[in-house]
Amino acid sequence: MSSATRIPASEHGINPREIDKKARTILTSLTDAGYEAYLVGGGVRDLLLEMVPKDFDIATNATPEQIKKVIPSTRIIGRRFRLAHVHFGREYFEVATFRAPHDDSEKGQTGQHGRIIHDNVFGNLEEDAYRRDFTVNALFYDLQNGEVVDFVGGMADLEKRELRMIGDPELRYREDPVRMLRAIRFATKLNLKIEAKTEAPISELSSLMGNIAPARLFDEALKLFHSGQAVKTLESLREYCLFQYLFPEAETSLAEDTDENGEEGSYTKLVYAALANTDRRIRADMPVTPAFLFAVMLWKRVSEGFTMYKELGNPALQAMHSAASDAFSEQIKCISVPRRFSNMSREIWTLQGLFSFKNERRVFKLMEHKRFRASYDFMCLRAECGELPISECDWWTLIQEVDLKEKKAMCQAALPPKRVKSPRRKSKNG
Ligand code: ATP
Ligand code: MG
Repeated sequence: MSSATRIPASEHGINPREIDKKARTILTSLTDAGYEAYLVGGGVRDLLLEMVPKDFDIATNATPEQIKKVIPSTRIIGRRFRLAHVHFGREYFEVATFRAPHDDSEKGQTGQHGRIIHDNVFGNLEEDAYRRDFTVNALFYDLQNGEVVDFVGGMADLEKRELRMIGDPELRYREDPVRMLRAIRFATKLNLKIEAKTEAPISELSSLMGNIAPARLFDEALKLFHSGQAVKTLESLREYCLFQYLFPEAETSLAEDTDENGEEGSYTKLVYAALANTDRRIRADMPVTPAFLFAVMLWKRVSEGFTMYKELGNPALQAMHSAASDAFSEQIKCISVPRRFSNMSREIWTLQGLFSFKNERRVFKLMEHKRFRASYDFMCLRAECGELPISECDWWTLIQEVDLKEKKAMCQAALPPKRVKSPRRKSKNG
């Protein structure tokens, strides 16, 4: 018999109209076809916290093939664990068939560190609740009767504002170390306290992060740093010794970055200022790019590499190219960075060398560069943190604001005074 608590709409306060209309259509199509279907995960959790959900995930007892029969715009993805993506044009919703928690006693299911390798056993609703990570992520919303179905005490934890792992935390982190990052992310983003037993093993198990495929960590890193709480996230990740598994170079640079008085150095200031800037942009609904995050995190390593290659006699462009390649070839051992973003970070770095030239032609060319805006933002952050005179940032801020005539005058005024030419020797015939 099921041990679920069912909380009626009158008690939990979710208004079905707050659920995306397309997600509601999927839920109704599946239940009309005789299947069970629930909203689950972040969608339910965030609505209960009166926050705006990022996405709406659906769980059902229909298999991916059955989902596709009911909703033809479904695409089945994944080989080992098949998942249905129900498409509405470019937008899609993830519809997952109930899964059973993986059973540790079954041979061949976990790797040598206890990691889940196979995770493809279909299950029922209750089993699907127990295979999820945190109790607050395992609440199901039934659109038909408006009830929230809770097998794991997620409602009580939400009320206490506590993040609690389902089952034995150490075992669950060993099965999937990414859950440690998720713990930090949810605690920070949702302002939840990590329950003591859930928190205790994290630092000690942090080294398990070294076994995670870099491809999986790009999305995780973005979710961590583009959540609107990047500053708090960085502090937390460092506190739990997790940051070094995402950005090892940045961790080393931050750990060493103190000035002669033992105060934080300019790189630390840059990282925090950049993340605070990202947080402000996210809260103001302004676009952010992963390229900026990587440009910031790897900056110390890149600028040191640049100096070294220059000292070895390389021209500036070549020196920057080599320094950037070195930094990214280390970084991608932890996080796979799609080429279009790493190329963008490289451009941001390369353009840093061009702001000191005030000759009209070069100034106009730089301002037309497609990476000008991001590079200018980056340069201003460097100036704010004492790497450059603040007047450099002010000059470039002003030149973007004034009209063409004034732009030209600014360039003219910024040029070094012309050397007085020595009088030309008169030619014999002159
Ligand atoms: P958000 O979408 O706001 O980042 P979310 O909780 O919806 O948060 P998703 O990554 O969309 O996170 O995952 C949906 C649900 O799938 C989670 O709420 C959780 O129940 C389950 N889940 C995701 N990743 C894991 C994991 N590594 N281990 C166990 N369950 C997971
Ligand atoms: Mg989600």
